[in-house]
Amino acid sequence: MSAKPAAAAARATVYGYPRQGPHRELKKAVEGYWKGRVTADSLRRTAADLRRSNWTQLVDAGIHEVPTGDFSLYDHVLDTSVMVGAVPERHRAAVAADRLDGYFAMARGTQDVAPLEMTKWFDTNYHYLVPELGPDTVFAADSAAQVGALREALALGHDARPVLVGPVTYLLLAKPAPGAPAGFAPLALLDRLLPVYAEVLADLRAAGAAWVQLDEPALVQDRTPAELDATARAYRRLGTLADRPKLLVASYFDRLGDALPVLAGAPVEGLAVDFTGPAAANLDDLAATGGLPGKRLVAGVVDGRNVWINDYEKSLATLATLLGLADRVDVAASCSLLHVPLDTAPEQDIDPQVLRWLAFARQKTAEVVTLARGLAEGTDAVAALIAANRADLASRASSPITRDPAVRARVAAITDADGRRAPAYPERAAAQRARLRLPLLPTTTIGSFPQTAGLRTARADLRAGRIDEAGYEERIRAEIGEVISFQERTGLDVLVHGEPERNDMVQYFAERLTGYLATRHGWVQSYGTRYVRPPVLAGDISRPGPMTVRWTRYAQSLTARPVKGMLTGPVTMLAWSFVRDDQPLGDTARQVALALRDEVTDLEASGTAVIQVDEPALRETLPLRAADRPAYLAWATEAFRLTTAVAGPATQIHTHMCYAEFGDIVRAIDDLDADVISLEAARSHMRVAAELAGHGYPREAGPGVYDIHSPRVPDAQEAAALLREGLAAIPAERLWVNPDCGLKTRGWPETRASLANLVAAARTVRAEL
Ligand code: GLN
Ligand code: ZN
Repeated sequence: MSAKPAAAAARATVYGYPRQGPHRELKKAVEGYWKGRVTADSLRRTAADLRRSNWTQLVDAGIHEVPTGDFSLYDHVLDTSVMVGAVPERHRAAVAADRLDGYFAMARGTQDVAPLEMTKWFDTNYHYLVPELGPDTVFAADSAAQVGALREALALGHDARPVLVGPVTYLLLAKPAPGAPAGFAPLALLDRLLPVYAEVLADLRAAGAAWVQLDEPALVQDRTPAELDATARAYRRLGTLADRPKLLVASYFDRLGDALPVLAGAPVEGLAVDFTGPAAANLDDLAATGGLPGKRLVAGVVDGRNVWINDYEKSLATLATLLGLADRVDVAASCSLLHVPLDTAPEQDIDPQVLRWLAFARQKTAEVVTLARGLAEGTDAVAALIAANRADLASRASSPITRDPAVRARVAAITDADGRRAPAYPERAAAQRARLRLPLLPTTTIGSFPQTAGLRTARADLRAGRIDEAGYEERIRAEIGEVISFQERTGLDVLVHGEPERNDMVQYFAERLTGYLATRHGWVQSYGTRYVRPPVLAGDISRPGPMTVRWTRYAQSLTARPVKGMLTGPVTMLAWSFVRDDQPLGDTARQVALALRDEVTDLEASGTAVIQVDEPALRETLPLRAADRPAYLAWATEAFRLTTAVAGPATQIHTHMCYAEFGDIVRAIDDLDADVISLEAARSHMRVAAELAGHGYPREAGPGVYDIHSPRVPDAQEAAALLREGLAAIPAERLWVNPDCGLKTRGWPETRASLANLVAAARTVRAEL
């Protein structure tokens, strides 16, 4: 690497910043507005203050070009729908009456009108509102919010670059509006949408934008030739507009693959490309396609979606290579910093040495600035920072936290047999039938019972020292007692303890495993005003002691019916945490699996006959590119089997997934070799039962007959009708009766009524067999 100034013009930028504010001011303001405690004006002021303080932070840190339009009161895809006038028919009246209330009506629905559907933003844990588009959709440009934010930034003297969701990605993320003809694909609307983007670009240009960024992350997924053609057409059209700012087309989360030559050949002035994680392949691909002569390349070399410090020397080497491939190279985080917490500084509880391995949005911003300086002024200019970085990386690599010899030895000793249950399913099923003596169509629940205010108070009291461990234990036991006696009275067959001790199904276990870190302030937006604090898989994982056994054992002591032990599976433990970036995900999954395997052993030894290992995240963690999926599914299913295969044949292993669309992973589900699976089905009329049967699924299954996502109580006839539909696909010997998911978000009254109806339905249908 040269120590001489290499790229005098290298600039530092980011595509987006956490929106919530250091004390989640945005959440408080928006929720206050919903409750009528905060006025619209005051909400707008809070939002403007947060935008301003974000820009100030970025500029003070040395960022040259700040993003605008990344901020949002709820979701930036919803903002894009507003920008292009794609308001569904059912929300028009609300939007016409009041723009702000109409906006929130689209996001959350009202008493009479359903909201837009919400789904995951690519493979992150951020959720966006899905645009609904049909052949009748009429687009109309509404650039007010975008122009307003740009003007604010320019008035403060910042060099600002508006960031928009690009037209191709916007359409690819949309779903057909209700009533659209079968086979309608929103991408068909591209030619109608482009003039609207042209107008917005012209407005931004007029307001003073030199550059506008168009985000096209959908291009890192497998795309058809027709979709790539549409992309080429879109950027030819936008690129040849007379009155427009310079265009920077951004992608992130994976490699561009076939889309790279399409974008490289488009008449736009710049590309922003991800070079982290699986997207590192973009480096070779770019070299192979001849680079980006005459274009600006914004290089995403700082991982924008994970929490680890950058490797400066590696990034500077990447940047040095890129210098030869483009007209000009600037430095950025790989994607919006929305996906990481704001700042490590307030994390007082984390060991200071470990804290030096972590970089949240603020630290990542500083990294981008350092790398841009290194690129512009030569590495000598940042030599001290590089040295400190090297020391931090070395401390992480050699720490006993990341290298626990006992854990490593155990992982190295795993054999194939450890992940295979013996005997095979049919023999196990017989042993379990003999042990459990359940009726046909056995009834059970998914695990959690209502998380009441009383339980939350108990946890808060314990944290604040108002009660001691013994007092807390007392309250949890009382709750377990209630839950067990309710289930007995109601006539359920396989009981649960209700999970009253768990704040969250991942966090609870993370707090009990060595190698996991919890943050105090590490909030990340999940959707709207909902923020989560994902734990951090920081080191080698081990289990100091049993995590769930005493609660399950206590519950079992209260009843003669089987109580199901309840664990969160290894894939979900990874999916809802920040994962290590210094070893393959499969290695981390194996470590977590071994810790959970010990819990299975202990549960079994304490007499637990049924153990459920939840894997709601199995499908959502699928890699974006189909070619990467088999390898993922291999380690994911292996980790599940490693967790459960230690159980004896008469111990019944359940798993649970909360979705109905699993056709693409049905083989993987079979590969888990669980004895019983429960799935979501109530809303889809048991279609999953038919699908499982169609795939020849040989084991027991409980397609949900009670939609727990709604406060509605299904009556017994309705549940019975669903069960009969289930029986048409799955024989009575293999069909279970259960709700769609856990009951923690429900209240007691509807839980009581619904479960009573569910048991009545099972009895009715049993009598018909
Ligand atoms: N056992 C968990 C519960 O009932 C499962 C939750 C989930 O699948 N998301 O709450
Ligand atoms: Zn679920």
